[in-house]
Amino acid sequence: MTKFHIAGEFSDSKSGEVTEIRNPATGEVVDTVPKGTEEDARRAVDSAHEAFEEWSQTPPTTRGSFLYQGAQKVREAEGELSILLTQEQGKPKKEAILELRRFASTLEYYAGLGVSIRGSYIPLHDHNRYGMIIKRPIGVCGAIVPWNFPVSLMGNKIAPALVAGNTVVVKPASTTPLTSIRCIEILNKTGLPKGVLNIVTGPGAIVGEELLRNPKVRKIGFTGETETGKHVMSVAAQEIKRVTLELGGSDPLIVCEDADLDGAVKAAAVGRFFNCGQACLAIKRLYLFEKIADPFIEKLIERVKRLKIGNGLEEGTIIGPLHTQKQREEVESQVEDAQKSGAKVLTGGKRPTGSEFDKGFFYLPTLLSDVPDSGKIVQEECFGPALPIFRVKNLEEAIEKANSSIYGLGSSIWTQDFSKAHYAAERIEAGYTWINSIQTIYDELPFGGLKHSGLGKEHGIEALEHYLETKSIVIAT
Ligand code: NDP
Repeated sequence: MTKFHIAGEFSDSKSGEVTEIRNPATGEVVDTVPKGTEEDARRAVDSAHEAFEEWSQTPPTTRGSFLYQGAQKVREAEGELSILLTQEQGKPKKEAILELRRFASTLEYYAGLGVSIRGSYIPLHDHNRYGMIIKRPIGVCGAIVPWNFPVSLMGNKIAPALVAGNTVVVKPASTTPLTSIRCIEILNKTGLPKGVLNIVTGPGAIVGEELLRNPKVRKIGFTGETETGKHVMSVAAQEIKRVTLELGGSDPLIVCEDADLDGAVKAAAVGRFFNCGQACLAIKRLYLFEKIADPFIEKLIERVKRLKIGNGLEEGTIIGPLHTQKQREEVESQVEDAQKSGAKVLTGGKRPTGSEFDKGFFYLPTLLSDVPDSGKIVQEECFGPALPIFRVKNLEEAIEKANSSIYGLGSSIWTQDFSKAHYAAERIEAGYTWINSIQTIYDELPFGGLKHSGLGKEHGIEALEHYLETKSIVIAT
């Protein structure tokens, strides 16, 4: 059993109950974790609360040095950690390595940003008085993380929180706690004072809920479904807690008639099928200018048919299983709904056959045409390997369709004409627009959605600001 960490110690749940963590490719039990209770969450919050005073007075560069050392250790352990991440989440090992490197680079980025925390001196209109604006940490922060990128999305929360001087309690998704616990253990071994960084496993409705309600928790960083995000916001409002919400997305990819077609085809395939389509930033709607639609679709079908599906630990696997049975059933129901409304399946549209797929939640990468705009797969977030393809007459129509979603997370446009790209980038309602590229996240650039995709930013100096309070001081001389 992998125990959770409270006050730097391995800990069991008070309940004595455990949760089995199963491999989505094989159904085998990978390990078990304690099934935490409200009381466990309270213990973790209390330990973070006790550690706060000393940690908040520790120089930011010293705080950053722990993150930096932790990042080095995670990089050294990436071989072992990536196997564990693949086993619990299902993603191909290559993608697991990328995720761990992303986590390490976020720790390093914020380790360096410690030196940038600063306030200011303000001359006042009263005689013999001046003002100072200082930045202070907020207090105990709850980090609530989903299962699709359990480690990197945890890093987005703990790195700015810790370097800003806050203490943290992490609540990982119930199905993917193992690699996160190992990473917290590695970080704690760098000598972080006890209680600064804690992790408690257990159901969202119990452990997560306690973080939302406990008055000692002053900020919640949450990534997950939009519906859960609304709940987080409304409960946090009772204690006027700060919240950062990274929620669902339905990112459009627009390909204009003058685009580099081969580049855009590759972008569509990677953008949709990375992590088996289970990414908030995945390409979920493809808009093709009519003139290039036929050759584009032909090339895309050919490329998608070549994607190797299988256990993420096998060499050459590009597409692993979906994370859970429920996740697969949701994608199946969205594809069925589209078919009932007249959509054509261009490739995929079913589970793969063969004994190697029997015990896992596999689904073939799927392309659909003739999907009505009212289809579930267009209106809802499709969190799996299926892509609806649409034809558009011009840029105005493409932008209008791109903006027709309740979501506004990422977006991408492919064209050789930079003024056209810039025109679209200013009008597409999304927190990120990639021009002639997709999905790459940079620590330096703020990331976060508009509309139902979220509130606040992760990454960049902007995220550090979300973990600091601004305070004014008046000095009479
Ligand atoms: P959920 O919203 O179901 O869960 C996210 C986290 O919240 C989990 O740790 C979950 O715990 C916890 N949780 C659930 N209920 C509560 C509650 N009442 N109080 C506090 N915490 C709770 O999302 P998924 O795990 O299904 O993640 C997939 C979703 O995340 C997708 O919709 C995706 O778009 C979105 N996402 C958004 C990203 C972004 O940056 N915008 C990035 C990645 C994903 P438990 O596992 O125990 O239920």
